[in-house]
Amino acid sequence: MKKVLLFFVTILFYTSSLAQTVAVKQLEFTKTVIDMQRPKLVVGIVVDQMRYDYLTRFYNKYGNDGFKRLLNGGFNCENAHYNYIPTYTAVGHASIYTGTTPEYHGIIGNNWYQKYEKKYIYCVDDGDFISIGAEDGGRKSPRRMVSTTIGDELKMAQNKKGKVIGLSIKDRSAILPAGHAADGSYWFQGKDEGKFITSSYYMDNLPKWVQDFNKNGKAKEYVNTTWNTLYDIETYTESIEDNNKFEGLFKGKETPTFPYNLKKLKKDNGNYDIIKAVPYGNTIVKDFAEAAIIGENLGQTENLTDFLAISFSSTDYVGHQFGVDSKEIQDSYLRLDKDLADFFNFLDEKVGKDNYTLFLTADHAAVQVPSYLQTLKIPSGYFDNSDFKNKANAFLEDQYKSDDLIENVSNFQIFLNKEKVKEFMGEYEEKQIKEDIAIQKAVDVIVNSVVEK
Ligand SMILES: [Zn+2]
Repeated sequence: MKKVLLFFVTILFYTSSLAQTVAVKQLEFTKTVIDMQRPKLVVGIVVDQMRYDYLTRFYNKYGNDGFKRLLNGGFNCENAHYNYIPTYTAVGHASIYTGTTPEYHGIIGNNWYQKYEKKYIYCVDDGDFISIGAEDGGRKSPRRMVSTTIGDELKMAQNKKGKVIGLSIKDRSAILPAGHAADGSYWFQGKDEGKFITSSYYMDNLPKWVQDFNKNGKAKEYVNTTWNTLYDIETYTESIEDNNKFEGLFKGKETPTFPYNLKKLKKDNGNYDIIKAVPYGNTIVKDFAEAAIIGENLGQTENLTDFLAISFSSTDYVGHQFGVDSKEIQDSYLRLDKDLADFFNFLDEKVGKDNYTLFLTADHAAVQVPSYLQTLKIPSGYFDNSDFKNKANAFLEDQYKSDDLIENVSNFQIFLNKEKVKEFMGEYEEKQIKEDIAIQKAVDVIVNSVVEK
């Protein structure tokens, strides 16, 4: 009996001790939340088309203050996977900043087939607004994105206080990350302008700091420079030969090789647009981000968090033109590493080391050039959209005596002509076959016919 009593006493003691511990923990937690020092500024950086292996492949060539500072001083999330297709720029940026997938945020491609209007649309085009800062290029908004971004949530959480700004070379990469409630979003208008512009969705005039930046001569300086490798090209041992047949050419240049005299090439390559396709497109975005921090006083207010979303797009243009194994890509990342180092030092100085939180990620990656992979005997090839559509239609003609059941094929999606499907399903309904089963069957056969090829 004594033993049993002791047993009960012991249990009570532990229980009460546990309850006490929980209570103390809760108190500490509440205290932590109240006293928690919020970052005065959160900086989100997206590097367009950055593969994870650029961190490791070029590691020994990077300085200590750029990518390496993040890798060695921060947290590195390595086990990340895409849970959607297609992995394109607009979809990637929207997914990063909304935290959800295209089904929910609505950005299913850069351009896509709008099945209700039966036409192609561009993700951020919006004819309800006008261009601010230049004649063209600014009739945009984030209104096709139908969920909130981190910036939107921050605006609501802080009762509309705290600034949210997005900026990039590409309009979609500035607009989608900034979200709906943003204070501003700016992107680069090339052609004969060479300026950062915006849309009347956000404001009626460019702020003075943007106007001043546009007059500072940086774009002019970059468009008249010569792009050569940052270090001796012989030391670029992580990439294939400079002159290879897997690269695209700038108009007016015979070989895809360094140096690139932009002053000479700009006329045939869209004037200021050429900046986008070389590393200086990233540098000017870095310069502009610094101007935004100063111009908008970002990260300077006690107990408030501002948000700056930056996207570096030039890596994507260079990747598309020269391929992921090119000397041009290697040089672009070595230069971006330097731009990042400069920018982080700027943040330390202007915002303060302990006052900001920063993350860096990519909207998608890129595959090696398939024809290059074929030279290594690695199974690879190209997907031919129109060939696919022809084959699918031939199959449907053969099987169902109809060659217009498919309305559109784009972004790896098949849009069936619903009216035609209904017509054709009518006959089958009598035979008690459900519409969805028949459609699934058609899709399976079409996909298999291509895969078997
Ligand atoms: Zn992209």
